[in-house]
Amino acid sequence: MGVRDNLMRLRASVPEGVELVAVSKFHPVEALREAYDAGQRVFGESRANELCAKAQAMPEDVEWHFIGHLQTNKVRQILPHVSLVHSVDSERLLRLIDSEAARLGRKVRVLLQLHVAMEETKYGFTPDELIGFVTPELLAGLDHVEIAGIMGMASNTDDEERVRRDFRAIRDTYDRLKAGALGGHDEFSIVSMGMSHDWPDAVEAGANMIRVGTTIFGEREY
Ligand SMILES: *Cc1c(COP(=O)(O)O)cnc(C)c1O
Repeated sequence: MGVRDNLMRLRASVPEGVELVAVSKFHPVEALREAYDAGQRVFGESRANELCAKAQAMPEDVEWHFIGHLQTNKVRQILPHVSLVHSVDSERLLRLIDSEAARLGRKVRVLLQLHVAMEETKYGFTPDELIGFVTPELLAGLDHVEIAGIMGMASNTDDEERVRRDFRAIRDTYDRLKAGALGGHDEFSIVSMGMSHDWPDAVEAGANMIRVGTTIFGEREY
């Protein structure tokens, strides 16, 4: 099966209203080109250098999403190319994106990354941290970032109940923010969760953006 067929089949099963981010990290530009020719415009990358190189090689109308851990020293490099950063996992990173976006004279859309999975990681806010972090004072101080939603991952486990619980926790956190500090912010509208193996559960729990790589492009060779 080629990229085109994989993509068409996937598209046929993703419900309307759910945005598909084609996660193309580690795949060559030829594979992205095939997806592009099949109509895909939104691509996700997780490394700054790779995103920039591919942005140069692909048509202008591609929307690039940054989905990996973003090091602060890479912010300046990627901002000119990205339309959405999924992975804002610290106040420091958020404030740096704000000031770099100001320098560029544009607004940058970001998602705040939540950590609910059972795996240990230092990236992402817990739900309670995030609720405490997003205050009217914080929002008032950010002129050049737009908090467009949240992003998260479920535990990497066969325990489907756990996976569903993780997705529900992400969606609940979105709803709490929407009912709280981000109420009235219309642009706060994205719940990005679900990957190749678990996106149907994510959609069931309320995802409106999914990030799918392997199902479209095949296994990655790291
Ligand atoms: C790699 C990656 C994906 C896509 O994973 P697949 O299992 O290949 O669909 C989604 N989200 C993030 C954050 C990733 O790093």
